[in-house]
Order: sequence, then structure tokens, then C-alpha cells
Amino acid sequence: MVRRIEVDGGSAYICEICGLGYADEETARECEKFCSTHGACSLEITRRAVYFPKRF
Ligand SMILES: [Zn+2]
Repeated sequence: MVRRIEVDGGSAYICEICGLGYADEETARECEKFCSTHGACSLEITRRAVYFPKRF
């Protein structure tokens, strides 16, 4: 499930599988769908990420 978090100056939508955050929910859903079907992230999608968890 895509999770919404507060970040500096706004909010981000987090893909719960890879942990990356996106400015819009649509992209986060796309990422989650890709992550769960392929077991890896799509570079096309992750380059649109606006939030990176600390482990990266
Ligand atoms: Zn993802």
C-alpha cells in the first residue's frame, strides 16, 4: 500500500516495497506495482523519486 508522509514543504507518497517516495500518488502506485511484479525497481520510475530513505 502506498503510504503518505510529510516531508519538508509538503508530502510524499512512499512505495512500501522499495521505500522511495514520489510527489504524486499515481507514480508511487506505479512503482509499487512494478516492484511487486518484477522484484526490482524500474529506473524509469525511480528517477522521478523525490524522497530517499536513509538506508540509500
Ligand atoms: Zn518501489
